[in-house]
Amino acid sequence: MRVAFLGLGIMGQSMASNLVKAGHEVTVWNRSPGKLVEGAAVAPTPGAAAQGAEVVWLCVSDTDAVEQVIFGKDGVEASLEAGAIVADSSTISPSATVKFAERVAAKGAAWVDAPMTGSKIGARDGTLVFIVGGREENIERLKPLFAAMGKKIFRMGEVSKGQATKLAMNLQIALIFEGFAEGLTLATKLGVDAQQLVSLIEATMVRSGVVEYKAPFVLQRDFTANFPLRLMHKDIRLALESAKEARVKLPGLETVEEVYEMASEDGNQDLDYAATLTLLEKWAGVQVKGKAA
Ligand code: NAP
Repeated sequence: MRVAFLGLGIMGQSMASNLVKAGHEVTVWNRSPGKLVEGAAVAPTPGAAAQGAEVVWLCVSDTDAVEQVIFGKDGVEASLEAGAIVADSSTISPSATVKFAERVAAKGAAWVDAPMTGSKIGARDGTLVFIVGGREENIERLKPLFAAMGKKIFRMGEVSKGQATKLAMNLQIALIFEGFAEGLTLATKLGVDAQQLVSLIEATMVRSGVVEYKAPFVLQRDFTANFPLRLMHKDIRLALESAKEARVKLPGLETVEEVYEMASEDGNQDLDYAATLTLLEKWAGVQVKGKAA
């Protein structure tokens, strides 16, 4: 398929590369020049990339970035052809998604929200899980592209339900990790070996995919970004905004948001969200260490 891929960050670069490897005709664009994908053409603007594309796939930071790339100067909108599909793998506001979908529908184009989970390693290995909202026939048309980048897709309903579900998922990841980080900090302060605690977690019902993914990084004190703290913070805020719109109270997430606020003030926003641990360590006056650290 002819695909425009917009946004070559931690996730987008590998996703676009996997589309090329699967034999698709890919044109890429990134806001900061110089990011390339082997085998893909490079366009100077989002609009130029979208020219003649059957599918425009986005993976940019946030709601404002999606709006700029699609509807801003030199944006995708002017190039969209009737029958084209805009697939958005950024994690953004569900209510803004509905508005964006209505605007592209005026050009005869369709919107599929396709946020994903699996992080940097899932993007690299083509094993992402897509959490999708949109009409079934549009999702069907995207199946070869989903297959090139991921291992599973879950259709959660019409447009925006993918984003709504993704926020509910990241809410849980943030709370699960915070529980792990608080457990590690308390145990370390009380003289328990962190590696031993992780082994125990893995052997009991406390285990989780989040801990399984994050523990090796944390025990080696490797806080380089797989999923940057600033983006998880953005998702926490999006979940709180959506909760407010829907009159839902999320007291656990409100507290965790304050931790992210303080971790950002400490200058950790470009590290992985696992670096929220360093704030707990600072307060407790300890450092969590694995054998390899
Ligand atoms: P990233 O590495 O920070 O990349 C962000 C991308 O968005 C870059 O290409 C950046 O361009 C572009 N961008 C930012 N603001 C823009 C704007 N105003 N106009 C145009 N482009 C703009 O982020 P990422 O980790 O790839 O994440 C991308 C999206 O996927 C986010 O919504 C994130 O929440 C979601 N996500 C991430 C993960 C993960 O584990 N990393 C997992 C699931 C979902 P520049 O290069 O010019 O800065």
